[in-house]
Amino acid sequence: MIKILVNDGMHPEGQQLLEEANFQVDTESVAQENLPETLPGYDVIIVRSATKVRKDLIDMCPNLKIIARGGVGLDNIDVKHAKSKNIEVINTPAASSPAVAELAFAHMFAISRFLYQSNREMPSTGNTQFKNLKKAYSQGIQLRGKTLGIIGFGRIGQETARIGLALGMNIMPVDLVINETILSIDLYNNKDINLTVRVPTVSLNTMLTESDFISLHVPFGGKALIGAKEFEKMKDGVIIINVSRGGTVDEEALLEALNSGKVTGAGLDVFENEPTPLKSLLEHPRVSLSPHIGAATLEAQRNIGIELAEKIIAYYNGNSNGKN
Ligand code: NAD
Repeated sequence: MIKILVNDGMHPEGQQLLEEANFQVDTESVAQENLPETLPGYDVIIVRSATKVRKDLIDMCPNLKIIARGGVGLDNIDVKHAKSKNIEVINTPAASSPAVAELAFAHMFAISRFLYQSNREMPSTGNTQFKNLKKAYSQGIQLRGKTLGIIGFGRIGQETARIGLALGMNIMPVDLVINETILSIDLYNNKDINLTVRVPTVSLNTMLTESDFISLHVPFGGKALIGAKEFEKMKDGVIIINVSRGGTVDEEALLEALNSGKVTGAGLDVFENEPTPLKSLLEHPRVSLSPHIGAATLEAQRNIGIELAEKIIAYYNGNSNGKN
C-alpha cells in the first residue's frame, strides 16, 4: 500500500480522496528532526511551508516518489535535487490566488476607512469618545476611481486586477515578461455573462508616479523592488499593499516613507523577518497587519487539498503499468 505522510495539515476532502483511492494517509505531524527516521517509510510527503525537504533528507529516502507542496512557493524544498533523484515535486500554484487577492483588498479597504485603527479603539473608548473617533476617522477615501498599480501581473496580480476593475479602479500593472493580458471576468453563478477586458502593462516609472494604491504580487528576487528611490517617485499619500513575500519592500525605507507622510498607509501580510517582524513596523499607527495568511481561507485550503490529491492519484494511475 502506498503510504503518504501529511506533515503540515491537509483539508479533509483532499485526505478523503486519497483514502478512497486506497492510499494510507498519516496526518500526525512529525517534527523536522525526526523526519530522517520516519520519512524513509513513506512514498509521498505532503507539506506546506513549515516542513523543510532538503538534500540531506531526500538522500535518506530512496523510496520517496512525490514531494507535494500545498501552495505556491517551493523555497522549503530542494527541487533540483529531488528531480535529479526522479522524485516528482508538485504544488498548487493557482488554488489560492483569489484568496490572496481578496486579502490585498481587505487591507486596501481597512486603510481607506481606518478600520484597523477604529477596531482597536472602539472597544476601549467607543462609548466615551464616540464623537472624537467619528471626527478622527471622517476623512476616508473610496477605491472607485483610484489608480491601482500592480507589481507582478501573474496569477495573483491578475486576480487583483479583476477585483479592482469590478470596483471601478484604473488598473496599472507592471511585469517583467507580460505586455498585456485579456482578463476574463466570469460572474459567479451566471455563465451567460462573461466579460473580457484587455489590460496592457505599463512601465514601472509610469505606475510608480501615477498610482494611488500599489500592490505587490511578485516572488522575492533577492533584493527589494521597492526602496527609497521608488518611494520618492510615488504620489504623496500613496497606499502600499504587500501580500507577496517579505523583502520585496525595503522595510526601513517604508518606515521612513510612512513617517514622512509620503505613504499614507501600508497593508502588510508578509515581512522580511518572519516569524519575528520588525517591531517598529508592527507598532506603526498607519499599518494594517496580518500574519502571512494570504492563502488561508477555507476555500483555498479545500482547493489545495483536492488539487494535491488529484495530482497524486493521477501520478500513480499514470505510473501503474508496472512502474510502482
Ligand atoms: P506568478 O508567478 O503567477 O506571478 C508573478 C509575476 O511576477 C510573473 O508574471 C513575473 O513575470 C512577475 N515578476 C517577477 N519579478 C518581477 C519584477 N521584478 N518586476 C515585475 N514583475 C515581476 O506568481 P503568483 O502566484 O501570482 O504569486 C505572486 C506572489 O504571491 C509570490 O511571491 C507568492 O509567493 C506570493 N504569495 C503569497 C501568499 C500569502 O500568503 N501572502 C500566498 C500565495 C502566494
